[in-house]
Amino acid sequence: MANPTPTTLDKIISLCRRRGFIFQSSEIYGGLNACYDYGPLGVELKRNVKDFWWNWMVRRRRDVVGLDAAILMAPRVWEASGHVAGFTDPMVDCKVCKRRFRADMVPEPGKCPECGGQMTDIRQFNLMFKTFMGAVEDSASVVYLRPETAQGIYVNYRNVLDSSRQKVPFGIGQIGKAFRNEITTENFIFRTREFEQMEMQFFVKPGTDMEWFESWKEDRKNYYSALGINPAKTRFHQHGEDELAHYAAAAFDIQYEFPFGWKELEGIHNRTDFDLKRHQEYAGVDLSYFDEVTRERYVPYIIETSAGVDRTMLCILCDAFEEQELEKDTRTVLHFHPAIAPVKAGIFPLVKKEGMPEIAHQIEAMLQPYYAVFYDESGAVGRRYRRQDEVGTPFCITVDTETLENETVTVRDRDTMQQERMKIAELTAFLHKKING
Ligand code: ATP
Repeated sequence: MANPTPTTLDKIISLCRRRGFIFQSSEIYGGLNACYDYGPLGVELKRNVKDFWWNWMVRRRRDVVGLDAAILMAPRVWEASGHVAGFTDPMVDCKVCKRRFRADMVPEPGKCPECGGQMTDIRQFNLMFKTFMGAVEDSASVVYLRPETAQGIYVNYRNVLDSSRQKVPFGIGQIGKAFRNEITTENFIFRTREFEQMEMQFFVKPGTDMEWFESWKEDRKNYYSALGINPAKTRFHQHGEDELAHYAAAAFDIQYEFPFGWKELEGIHNRTDFDLKRHQEYAGVDLSYFDEVTRERYVPYIIETSAGVDRTMLCILCDAFEEQELEKDTRTVLHFHPAIAPVKAGIFPLVKKEGMPEIAHQIEAMLQPYYAVFYDESGAVGRRYRRQDEVGTPFCITVDTETLENETVTVRDRDTMQQERMKIAELTAFLHKKING
């Protein structure tokens, strides 16, 4: 039987492996399910995605500051947050093929989607990974790998307020690892057991919360357009009563149309004063805020924006991926926004002689302090362009015979495939404008 046609996702997975974006974790040992490693190009892309978020959410705003809290936290944090009691997913097993599913993801309740067999009753499964702190493995030393970064922000709210001269309304942003022992993992890096989150918690006066909620919704949608994601492929999904988390007064997801359907990319939640009140109660400390202007005291409400780094990367890869049928062959291109492209420019000598490699190396040395660039002198220049197209390099700079005469090079644009000639001395400013807008 012929192999089935690979789907877009299969092609992306294969490209990611082949070109060093993403590998299966512990591959030489047969792989560890739902854990992934980022290779040389993947790590550059990931770093750029995180920088883009950090600049947008923290650096460009006066009312948001950053934080980097520890992954391990006092176990009481997770009692206060409700995770010990309620961070569960409903789990069912097939009695026939023994496969395990998240009950809310089974299309026909009671019937196994794989073999049609009968399912067990639903059991609640806690998604937190447990481990032990110190040398004694007893219940007193249990700690959890954080399932979200948000709680690190809540427990530091007082510290940040006292040390940063911020006043409500203000926010705290954080990027970091989170761990969930997901029952089913799916679709490459879409749902994994170890992942990274980019979260921002914005503290506001009760009563102004819905206004802030709306403004953050708007801001976050604009962010994805600025990141280069096709706006026609993003939409809001409002959580109905049955979907709302126990802490939320309102929640919207930003969804993206992945090759496997519309799925959540980011959650925007109005968490009310639930979290701070719970920490007040469990830690026995006052987390209220005194407004010196209005002379009022209150526990702030929190508007949360919570995005996954890995999920954003999958979205970017899917959105950027294109196979173009050209006259002689197929061109595979990743149309990354220049700001997040792992390599900003390929640098090629047209031939390996006449001093061209030396000039190309000088250009490399000139750009390297500012941008990730890649020098390549092997094979026909057309093939070198294609290799860079496939990994999303927006520009290719070629040194040719004219360079020797007038210190100009060609700069080829990945998307239009057009070349323009410019002075070597203009390259840094050109790239700066294209990358930073
Ligand atoms: P779901 O209902 O799909 O399990 P969730 O609503 O519990 O997800 P949140 O707790 O709102 O997800 O997490 C915020 C963001 O963190 C998500 O929008 C997603 O981008 C990311 N995220 C959550 N779980 C995972 C995971 N297992 N793998 C990768 N990213 C994740």
